[in-house]
Amino acid sequence: CVAASASSSPAATTAATAEVPAAMKAWAYDAYGDASVLKLDEAAAVPAVGEGQVLVKVAAAALNPVDAKRRAGKFQATDSPLPTVPGYDVAGVVVKVGGGVKGLKEGDEVYGMISEKPLEGPKQSGSLAEYTAVEEKLLALKPKGLDFAQAAGLPLAILTANEGLERTGLAAGKSVLVLGGAGGVGSLAIQLAKQVYGASKVGATASTKKIELLKSLGADVAIDYTKENFEELPDKYDVVFDAVGQGDKAVKVVKEGGSVVVLTGAVTPPGFRFVVSSNGSTLEKLNPYLESGKVKPLIDPTGPFPFSQVVEAFSYLETGRATGKVVIFPV
Ligand code: NDP
Repeated sequence: CVAASASSSPAATTAATAEVPAAMKAWAYDAYGDASVLKLDEAAAVPAVGEGQVLVKVAAAALNPVDAKRRAGKFQATDSPLPTVPGYDVAGVVVKVGGGVKGLKEGDEVYGMISEKPLEGPKQSGSLAEYTAVEEKLLALKPKGLDFAQAAGLPLAILTANEGLERTGLAAGKSVLVLGGAGGVGSLAIQLAKQVYGASKVGATASTKKIELLKSLGADVAIDYTKENFEELPDKYDVVFDAVGQGDKAVKVVKEGGSVVVLTGAVTPPGFRFVVSSNGSTLEKLNPYLESGKVKPLIDPTGPFPFSQVVEAFSYLETGRATGKVVIFPV
C-alpha cells in the first residue's frame, strides 16, 4: 500500500522527531544554596510525557518565593530528588500529547502551575527550561488577549489569591485587608477581592512608592506601612489576607467572627495557613476576568528577564521588593 509506506518513510519520521529534540537548555541545581547554585545545563534531558500529561514548549516562565525557598533547601524533607530544574509557573505551547489526554492538542497555547502540590514532591523538571511536562488537568488555555509573559506571571499567584480568599469565605459586601498588596499574590488578591468576590471595601499595605499602584489595582484604602501601623488604625475588616508574614498583627484588625489567612510565617489564632494547590479548571474559571481586563496581570517593570538572566531574576525576587511578578521571557 503506497499510502502506508509514505507515512512511515524516513522523511516523515525525521520531521516528527525534529520537532521535539532529546536535549534542551534548562536551569538546574544539584545542591541546595543561594542563587549561585543555579547552572545553565545546555544538554538537559527533555522530560518524558507521562499518562495524562502534555509536553509544553516553554515560551515564558515566572519566579515565586517558593522557588527560592525550595532552592535554599527549606522543603528538603518533601522535595523531589536533586538535581532540580526549578520553576512552577509556565506559559507555552503544547507540542506533544500523552496517553489519556482528552482536552488539549498540539498547538494549544496554555498556562498553569506545573506541580499540583508545590511542597509535596514537586516536579524535578520545572518550567525554567525549554520544555516541561505537565498534567493536562493543571493547565488552562492562555487567556485571549494576554501574551505569554503576562500569562506566565499568573498561575501560582492567582491560584493562591483565589484559594486564600475562598477559604476565608469572602463574599459580596464584606471588607478585606490585603497585607503586601504590591507583590505577586497581593496585587491579584486586591483585584480578585473587588472584581470576583464583590468585596465592598478593600484595604492594602505597601511602602510609599507603591501607594498609587494599590489604588490603581482597586484598593479603597491604601496604607503606607512606612508611615502608619495598620494594626493601630481604627478600621477593622471582615477578612485579612496576609501575604507578608504578619500573622500576629493581622489578627488585631479582623472583626469579631472574621477570618485571617496567612501565607507565610507564624500563625496566631484565629488565623490559619494553607498551601496552594494547582488546578487548571480554576484558571479556566478566572479566564473571563482576565480576558475582559477586569483582572490584570502585573509584571515587575525591572523584567521580564531573558532566559540567560535567571540568576539575576532570582536575586531580584529575593530582595522582597518586586512589584507584581518576576517573569522570565523569552525562554
Ligand atoms: P513577592 O516577592 O511578590 O512580594 C514582594 C512584595 O512584598 C513587594 O511588593 C513588597 O512591597 C511587599 N512587602 C514586603 N514587606 C512588606 C510589608 N512589611 N508590608 C507590606 N508589603 C510588604 O511575594 P509573593 O506575593 O509572591 O508571596 C508573598 C509570600 O507568600 C511569600 O512569603 C511566599 O512564599 C508566600 N506564598 C505562600 C503561598 C502558600 O500557598 N502558602 C503561595 C504563594 C506565596 P514593598 O516594596 O512596598 O515593601
